[in-house]
Amino acid sequence: MNLQKTETGKFIIKLDATAFARSVCFRKFWLSTIDGYRPALWPIDIEFGNSFHIFSKELEISNGDLIKSIIPAQKYFQETPMLSKGLSKSFLNVEYLTEVCTKYFNEVYHNDPFVTFRYEGKAFVEMNFAIPIETTELAEYVLCGTIDRIGTVGKQGPLAFLDYKSTGKYAKSATEYFARYLFNTQIITYAFALTHIVNHFPDHPLAILKAYIPCAFIQGIFIPSGSTIEFKRSNMIQPTLTQLDMWREELYKLIHKIDAALKEIKNLDGYYVPAEGLFSGACIQGFTPCEYHGSCCAPDPRASEWILKNNFLSTSYNPLRFNDKNKT
Ligand code: SF4
Repeated sequence: MNLQKTETGKFIIKLDATAFARSVCFRKFWLSTIDGYRPALWPIDIEFGNSFHIFSKELEISNGDLIKSIIPAQKYFQETPMLSKGLSKSFLNVEYLTEVCTKYFNEVYHNDPFVTFRYEGKAFVEMNFAIPIETTELAEYVLCGTIDRIGTVGKQGPLAFLDYKSTGKYAKSATEYFARYLFNTQIITYAFALTHIVNHFPDHPLAILKAYIPCAFIQGIFIPSGSTIEFKRSNMIQPTLTQLDMWREELYKLIHKIDAALKEIKNLDGYYVPAEGLFSGACIQGFTPCEYHGSCCAPDPRASEWILKNNFLSTSYNPLRFNDKNKT
């Protein structure tokens, strides 16, 4: 285990939408979130998206200073070690990043109906949240995440949030692409977090915005290889109360499962985390194997552990350190 502890010696378990998605197999969840095993490098398309996020954040903070916003994005992309997956992604270079950012500035930024919320001069972009949600005998559970942009549609609209997604798909398939976010772990996690903040923290700046359930928008950045860069935005996505209730129920089921596993470790001096993916089919999704597939295929636990230790970094899982993913 690679977990931080509170002053009273309880484990701090940070849960976010990525951790929830991994809970489709408890071993996958455990290896990433509790043991903190993660790849040493991230693929180039992920880092390209991260660079665009840096640009869009700076653009809001600087009130539309294009040059000031592009420079940190270029610097991040040029200086971050990453995995280049062969020639099919070779178009993702710094010149292309500059082109995407400039095109976004010209085509979207100036005509954007989404108004970023500002409080005392601070733009609500890349907003981290860390909400304590449960305390047990062994652990403190904290719901974490980073929301790209928070604001309203028009100046008077209700609370909403926007998430940037870059994809190699063509913009003509945007409707199909956006459909996956209608019923989505990340969207509902953020909707829950914002609802919670607005309802439980009356002094929080966001509490002045009206919110039944906050709605979401996906800002698609369509960058298919060798084709035109296009930007499209989804229609409003609003989770229902029933969906939020179902999500909350699953959250507490997961917390109980983690707590039971922590007790097993304490009592049994060693705990074999069930490889549920072998049953649920999570080991191979589509044609893509789970990142821990090599370790799980090993003939015995010692070999499995050796593969993990030699192929992954192990650091305390911290979903709030988005730009530090490559640092130990
Ligand atoms: S390879 Fe399968 S069993 Fe192993 S962690 Fe991944 S999903 Fe779970």
